[in-house]
Amino acid sequence: MSPEANIEGSAAQSPYAGRGAQMFPQLNAVQVARLSAHGRKLAIKKGDVLVEPGDRGRMFVVLSGSIEVVQPTVSGETLVTVHTPGRFSGDVGTLGGIGGVVRLRVREDGEVLAIEEAQLRTIVQTDAELSELFMRAFILRRVNLITTQSSDVILLGSTRSAGTLRLQQFLTRNTYPFVNLDVDADPSVRELLERFHVKLEDIPVVVCRGSLVLKNPSNEEVASYLGMNQPIDDERIRDVIVVGAGPAGLAAGVYAASEGLDALVLETGTPGGQAGSSSKIENYLGFPTGISGLALASRALLQAQKFGAEIRTAYSALRLNCDARPYAIEMANGHLVRGRTVIIATGADYRQLDLKNAPRFLGTGIYYAATATEARRCGNLEVIVVGGGNSAGQAAIFLAGSCRMVHLLVRSQGLADSMSQYLIRRIEDTPNIALRVRTEITALDGQEQLARVTWRSAPDNVSETREIGHVFLMTGAQPCTQWLNSCIALNEKGFVRTGSDLRSEELSAAQWRNGRQPQFFEGSVPGIFAVGDVRYCSVKRVAAAVGEGSACIQQVHRVLHE
Ligand SMILES: Cc1cc2nc3c(=O)[nH]c(=O)nc-3n(C[C@H](O)[C@H](O)[C@H](O)COP(=O)(O)OP(=O)(O)OC[C@H]3O[C@@H](n4cnc5c(N)ncnc54)[C@H](O)[C@@H]3O)c2cc1C
Repeated sequence: MSPEANIEGSAAQSPYAGRGAQMFPQLNAVQVARLSAHGRKLAIKKGDVLVEPGDRGRMFVVLSGSIEVVQPTVSGETLVTVHTPGRFSGDVGTLGGIGGVVRLRVREDGEVLAIEEAQLRTIVQTDAELSELFMRAFILRRVNLITTQSSDVILLGSTRSAGTLRLQQFLTRNTYPFVNLDVDADPSVRELLERFHVKLEDIPVVVCRGSLVLKNPSNEEVASYLGMNQPIDDERIRDVIVVGAGPAGLAAGVYAASEGLDALVLETGTPGGQAGSSSKIENYLGFPTGISGLALASRALLQAQKFGAEIRTAYSALRLNCDARPYAIEMANGHLVRGRTVIIATGADYRQLDLKNAPRFLGTGIYYAATATEARRCGNLEVIVVGGGNSAGQAAIFLAGSCRMVHLLVRSQGLADSMSQYLIRRIEDTPNIALRVRTEITALDGQEQLARVTWRSAPDNVSETREIGHVFLMTGAQPCTQWLNSCIALNEKGFVRTGSDLRSEELSAAQWRNGRQPQFFEGSVPGIFAVGDVRYCSVKRVAAAVGEGSACIQQVHRVLHE
């Protein structure tokens, strides 16, 4: 089969059909000549494996001969494409210096130009033409692997298991291609369980590269086995450590790195934060048809990596120590990282239902995000969305597209005070959304999975129980500031006070003696900043978080020059 036939074959299954030329562009002689200054020529021999999945990447430009790109799967290998002279290897992982997902094997003897990660970053930062060509190709290649579910990483799970949902979310939001197999829906999965010597009670199980079997692994374990993170250098003192990779943290990472600062971004879950869990953001400037939180987050992540920000996923900040400079942050995995300045961008966590058995159904009937991952679990059943804000409105409209009926439960009298008018109008125009005002959930019932929900409506306190197994909680959030170790002033609800919102007693308690007032995003300790939803008085929106993360870097520069 010709390489072109293969491209068409794989792309035909994905929405990227017809974009083969952008996915696998051909460099011209002038472009190859420009690249020569950044690479090293290597002779290649038929059969040599240049890269295995999980290897940290170099990019190869084929000068003569050819390289095949194959995706190892549980049943063998799938040919993705063949790179002939003028074509190049690589995807988003190559730029981020993290483990790749495909195997590169020499098909015909010849010569390649090997370009190391640091050189590749120099090229994308300085050569506008090649930067656009590479970035577009890298994104499309990864998206194509994801949509065709072509991978040697298999998640064996069940829709009745919360751990399965956690891992699905983790892999999906890290744009890691994986094959999702459901024990309940697909009888052949049981054969696989036997083959890998795992029992039903071990699920979710992640099978990596056909051999390694991880039983109910943590996100950290998965990240480590799949090479999603580079090792961290504890000795290095960074210019700025950004904690949290939601929109605010990613924006801070992009601006810090693009302005030459040594920036480390730490994220406990997956990049994108709350925005990453939004099915469609429609009010972010520049995206008139809307953009999913996942797409926005993965683009921002790649942009931060392009400029050289180091990003670690599944890295949790446990404690901030601001007694001495440089400031130190203890991580949950035992690492200690130090920075001249720190940006707190840890956003907020969803508020939970105040019912004793609610935590039991987390991920098995109660969800805090409404994306395609969660919607698949609901099929066309009836679902409940709780909340009166924009996130609840978006979730209700999104779910109404696939579910038979969406019950939108709000405690207040209506939506007018809490939801944007455009969403209220759409809800009114959607016949399968039932708005239930002055209503709250009073009981949850079920065995492994949520099966029944009771709600009560004022003013008559009428209770109703329905056979509903899926509840989406969109009831606001609490700031993630527990890790700050009381060393920075918070308001009574736990949000970080900054700039002129800091009271004089808070500044004296923090022994502020810097000879100047705190800057707009600076907290009660010099050089420690807060941006986005975690900041007291911030506007809880993506655009505001991005704006704060970007603008804060100017203030970081000021502190670094003091
Ligand atoms: C479902 C949903 C839909 C939304 N839709 C819209 C919309 O359409 N338009 C709009 O403008 N806004 C929307 N929002 C609000 C918007 O997403 C938030 O305002 C925005 O994400 C805030 O960004 P942030 O970076 O400040 O915080 P977050 O997005 O909360 O990100 C904080 C990050 O910090 C990480 N973190 C927390 N603690 C730690 C720790 N100890 N160590 C390391 N990392 C940590 C978290 O895992 C998270 O990734 C929506 C929110 C939700 C939940």
